Amino acid sequence: MHTACGLRSCKTTLLMRSVPQSRGGIRMGELWYCSVDCFVKAVRERFSTLPARRPLEMPHNPRLSIGLVMLSKGYLTDEQFRLALAQSQSTGEELESVLVRHGWADEWQLSSARAAQWGYPVLGRDRISQSVDADIPMTLLRSFSAVPLHYSKHARRLLLGFVYRVEHTLLHSIEQVTGCRAEPCFITPTEFCYQMERVTAAQDSREVVLDDSFTPADMAKTLGGFALEVVAREASLAHCQKYLWTRLSGKRRSIDVLFQNRRSIEMNKREDLWSSQEEIRSAG
Ligand SMILES: [Zn+2]
Repeated sequence: MHTACGLRSCKTTLLMRSVPQSRGGIRMGELWYCSVDCFVKAVRERFSTLPARRPLEMPHNPRLSIGLVMLSKGYLTDEQFRLALAQSQSTGEELESVLVRHGWADEWQLSSARAAQWGYPVLGRDRISQSVDADIPMTLLRSFSAVPLHYSKHARRLLLGFVYRVEHTLLHSIEQVTGCRAEPCFITPTEFCYQMERVTAAQDSREVVLDDSFTPADMAKTLGGFALEVVAREASLAHCQKYLWTRLSGKRRSIDVLFQNRRSIEMNKREDLWSSQEEIRSAG
């Protein structure tokens, strides 16, 4: 099946490749690597070029504020809206928490308003009823306040509920790593907590989060170790904001390795600083 190793500098001879232990190799996307060594070299090259290709989440600025959406949906009276806005502006408290504190809005109405702001559906009241075995790392779900609500293995579709904002990088990385199309909707914080308890991690997989700033060589070497451990036959890789998510799948076991990239967070901060200085300069 496999014609040649995906690593251009591969030194493995045809004779070596026919040795039983070296058969199999690791497939990553369109390419196949004849050995863990070649896989490690290839991912090392790929990691070295990553910072330049780091996708940024585009800031979403809804045209309507949450208060105006609540008003237009008839969840608030003019009076409530005016009072809540005045309080929020004078105390600095978020409008949403002012509304909840006064009992003028419940969390489902707020989720429904957020959904309208983003242009996605809101999960209807009392619609959560099932356990979902979608096999997405819990670290990513917690970090983006997202939870699988429904998973169709056959249709390869996943319904993902978000609480505060839709993270497109998460949807995109799920598609890249699992090959499953992820569709967003909005849910309430209570529904999120309820469903998180029901998300059962698949028994044949586990996740590892590596927090340190690794060099591309260290990251590749670490992955090589895990690839040997699970006897990986397939690898997939995706960026999800500050996380670099790699899934290594063997016949019986698979592992999700998440590298939390501190340098990219620092770079973000620096870019923010630069853009704010730019604004100050252009304003002055
Ligand atoms: Zn090779």
